[in-house]
Amino acid sequence: MKQTPVLEGAFVSDPEPALVGSCCRSCDTVAFPASFTCPNPRCSRKDVVAAPISRTGRLASWTTVHFPPPPPFVAPDPFVPITVVEVEFTSEGIQVVGPLTGASPDRLRTGMAMETVVEPYYTDDSGEVIGWKFRPAEGGGDE
Ligand SMILES: [Zn+2]
Repeated sequence: MKQTPVLEGAFVSDPEPALVGSCCRSCDTVAFPASFTCPNPRCSRKDVVAAPISRTGRLASWTTVHFPPPPPFVAPDPFVPITVVEVEFTSEGIQVVGPLTGASPDRLRTGMAMETVVEPYYTDDSGEVIGWKFRPAEGGGDE
């Protein structure tokens, strides 16, 4: 089945799933999704390159959504509640939001290690639309 990324260039699946953001070559500020200019207001160089994000981060927060988000989100019908997590990548200094996969929200604890995976978001007439999700890291959640 044909697979289309939900956001072109925002992640890789090979050799391992990881997000791809941008990094300023002048001040090392990282952005996700990638930014065409440095988001640091004190930086004057604005020279950014694509930069891989760490595969594993720390769970900062999460919530379970019990009603369909507005478009462009494609909600299953009938709607199934989804848990959205916010993962902090401390080496990059950023937080990224994405759907939880591979675990019940009951298992979640603030600060636990979460890893990036790439999975289908939904299927339409053109095939599968894939994107990033987060799951508790292998080995019980400690780095
Ligand atoms: Zn900069």
